[in-house]
Amino acid sequence: MEGVEGRRERLAGTELRAPGWLGLVLLYIYKTIYYSTMQATRNRRVLDALALVFVLAVAVGGWFFPVAGLALAGLMAVAVALSLLGRFGAARKRAFCNGVCPRGRALGFALKPISRGKALPRSFSDLSLRRGLCGFMMFCVMGSLVRALPGLEGYPALAAAGRIFWGLCVISLAGGLALGLLYRPRAWCVVCPMGTLQDTISGTGVRRASDDGTGEPARR
Ligand code: SF4
Repeated sequence: MEGVEGRRERLAGTELRAPGWLGLVLLYIYKTIYYSTMQATRNRRVLDALALVFVLAVAVGGWFFPVAGLALAGLMAVAVALSLLGRFGAARKRAFCNGVCPRGRALGFALKPISRGKALPRSFSDLSLRRGLCGFMMFCVMGSLVRALPGLEGYPALAAAGRIFWGLCVISLAGGLALGLLYRPRAWCVVCPMGTLQDTISGTGVRRASDDGTGEPARR
């Protein structure tokens, strides 16, 4: 089994590249929020392409530079913050899904021409299933962090945490691709743990999540 020293040496090898990835994350968040609020309709395709590049950069880059996975942690923090604002009426419900989330936007953009476009079976939107998946994800992330971080500090600690969030990013992207190809491009949004987390925090957990890219409750 790999010890603390081994993990520290392995993760320290990517230290010099870290600032570039963190800059990419900040740039994406800035541009998304800016364009979403200032020029939402006119630049929709620009945002779609930007989201796709960002998702691919994190998914592929995280294999070589684990710290890139922290992008997902940052986005989760933004989702929680917006959901809390939504709880108190200071932001729209699912504001993160509607304006910020790069994965939902990228799936809708990339899979639209090749998706079968079928409706997802209603059983997928069962609230118990969605909450169970969300709880399982949080349990796995917290458990992995507790096991990986003791004994590490500085960049190796960031890289170890980034590796965990990168794994979560890749797994959910794979799930999103599979569901998006078989059903509608954004079918993943129905079961997405981050979407469920937002619904739970903002008090909209009893509604059926949408797979049409709007982030609003499904109409069928
Ligand atoms: S449901 Fe999940 S994947 Fe879909 S837009 Fe929201 S956070 Fe993104």
